[in-house]
Amino acid sequence: APSRQGEVSSYALESVVERAREHDGGEVDRSVPALASADPDVFAVALVGVDGAVASAGDEDVLFSLQSAVKPFLFALALADTGGGALDRVGIEPTGESFDAIKLESGTGRPPNPMVNAGALLTAALVDGDDVQARDERILRGLSAFAGRQLTVDEEIARDEHLMGDRNHALAHLMRSEGTLEVTADDAVAVYARACAVLVDVEALAVMGATLAAGGRNPVTGQRVVSADVARDVVSVMATCGVYDGSGRWMRSVGIPAKSSVSGALVLSVPGILGAATFSPPLDERGTSVRGHAAADILSAELDLHAFGR
Ligand code: GLN
Repeated sequence: APSRQGEVSSYALESVVERAREHDGGEVDRSVPALASADPDVFAVALVGVDGAVASAGDEDVLFSLQSAVKPFLFALALADTGGGALDRVGIEPTGESFDAIKLESGTGRPPNPMVNAGALLTAALVDGDDVQARDERILRGLSAFAGRQLTVDEEIARDEHLMGDRNHALAHLMRSEGTLEVTADDAVAVYARACAVLVDVEALAVMGATLAAGGRNPVTGQRVVSADVARDVVSVMATCGVYDGSGRWMRSVGIPAKSSVSGALVLSVPGILGAATFSPPLDERGTSVRGHAAADILSAELDLHAFGR
């Protein structure tokens, strides 16, 4: 039987894909053409142990954009580049609202947390770099270090999300008016849109989750990407805010810090044990992949991964 001690490679992941595939329902996101045209039947799962063992199953070669699965990693890079100062600039309380809610913290005008759009627009702006291009490069370098391979941007998705992200522009302008965003609203949306458009496969995303689980050191390449303190801060906020207004239900049923995304990606991080990722485009009403959630339920039960016991 698989144990929670990282015996990732011997685990029957194909069977998880088969069983989770039976959960249909959900709708593919329609916000930009590239997401709307995603194949709803594609489904892949990957696990990466903190010892570097890798397992994947299903449509593991399919590339998809990170979308909001990038948010934990933008927060990590912002914390790293500001020496923790990002914690003064963004809240860490859950919103109980959708990912793009037009809402800032009352009193401070800060974004509520780094896992919703307002917060990610801000953390992307806090990453080192004097202009849009420098911040883009720093983010792509940082994300690539988390994944252990050179990642690329889908230019069409980046452009469409920059042009069509009216709510993100609204959030950026609102933060400007509160004095909490220092770069221009358009620059903030441009950098965030490019970060959302970074392409991964399910294994690369699982390595990213495993790097957080391993305290900031990539378990496949051995590279230290962020400090253990940064990794712990990020996983803590994923646990409380990672699934938007579904975070409470997610924590009760799956019990693993995770981040959902409109592309249908999910990234999970179990500190000291493993990282995991799933990809399946149909989303429930809170923007969480239906099959990804089902796979996470199975993994949590079978590998005994629930943070608060069985
Ligand atoms: N690019 C998307 C947006 O900002 C990401 C949102 C998400 O994945 N929930 O609208």
